[in-house]
Amino acid sequence: MGDEANPYESLKEQIDDAAVYLDADEGVIERLKNPERVLETNLTFERDDGSLETVRAYRSQFNGDRGPYKGGIRYHPGVTRDEVKALSGWMVYKCAVVDIPYGGGKGGIAVEPAEYSTDELERLTRGFATELRPLIGEDRDIPAPDVNTGQREMNWIKDTYETLENTTAPGVITGKALDSGGSEGRVEATGRSTMLAARETFDWLDRDVEDATVAVQGYGNAGSVAAALIDDLGASVVAVSDSGGGIYDPDGLDTRAVKDYKIETGAVSGYGDAESITNEELLTLDVDLLVPAALENAVDADLATDLEADVVVEAANGPLTPGADDVLTERGTWVVPDVFANAGGVTVSYFEWVQNRQRFHWTEARVNEELERVITGAFEEIVETYESENLPNLRTAAYVVALRRVVDAYEQGGNWP
Ligand code: GLU
Repeated sequence: MGDEANPYESLKEQIDDAAVYLDADEGVIERLKNPERVLETNLTFERDDGSLETVRAYRSQFNGDRGPYKGGIRYHPGVTRDEVKALSGWMVYKCAVVDIPYGGGKGGIAVEPAEYSTDELERLTRGFATELRPLIGEDRDIPAPDVNTGQREMNWIKDTYETLENTTAPGVITGKALDSGGSEGRVEATGRSTMLAARETFDWLDRDVEDATVAVQGYGNAGSVAAALIDDLGASVVAVSDSGGGIYDPDGLDTRAVKDYKIETGAVSGYGDAESITNEELLTLDVDLLVPAALENAVDADLATDLEADVVVEAANGPLTPGADDVLTERGTWVVPDVFANAGGVTVSYFEWVQNRQRFHWTEARVNEELERVITGAFEEIVETYESENLPNLRTAAYVVALRRVVDAYEQGGNWP
């Protein structure tokens, strides 16, 4: 499973695939394939035993034509400069496809957070926030959670920034805990948009999502919420997995009980009477809907030839390589792209930022209603573009919609001499 595709090369290929349908200058497109700037820094922090450790960290500000840079911070040993560049670029097109007024950014620290104590993670996070301080700000660059980070890390970053700046600035970061200025519905938002994307797609294809069988790869914040909400639609989630392997039950899993089991034991494996399967077996199950919700490159061209699902809704960023995309387009598998399907996270981050700027708190019902409006509206635009312009697949349609918006914003800004 997974090839060595460089995610940054994948991003550029996706942009090129869409650029041919745009009436845009080659120089403008070239600009949109490169980050404006990337911070690379070595963070030294103290371990609990008093020793020092140095780790590599990045923040890429890819494009700010439509607003402040926006995007998460991940803690993972696989973090590299090119991965962060790609993820920041995907944020640009994600924010543009759902039409929220942001550019794109992303950050990461190359660490395995499970190996550190809470105190160590706090020192590391505050060290990163100190490095980021000159780059971030409510109107400049607004980080958020991503893989292996959440409310706790966001609260630390906000606190470090506010202390150093001697101000209050809750909108400097999103994904905070409710008492630190977070929004209702933010934790569930990525999974919720994944569910909405699946629902809208099945509806568009004239298929009943209630009759669908579903497999979910990855059971973190995106995958576990998506599984539960898709389950609530009446579909049958027959398989889920995490990095330790998967479980399968043809009669359908109790998605919330599996989540509780994972919180308790650290993995989904071993849950109830479900059969153990590998991640590769999960990805190639004969289901109606496959939701990759883990990391990049889960499905490469080779694995794509064995994929049996009719619809793939990408909850992760970049789970399919461009090679896999070509195979699936050829085979008529519907791929609902990451930049649209998982955009609920950043959309509710936007709502959180709006609430922070207004010092006002929305109800959960309002958040979810506004999110649904954004996601269903974006889906209509993607489908309309796909159909009227005869595009090869939904990913290219999403990029055409998004690139047009970014190109327009750039061109309308004019040139400095
Ligand atoms: N990390 C999430 C993503 O990849 C959310 C970003 C945000 O809320 O800014 O979309």
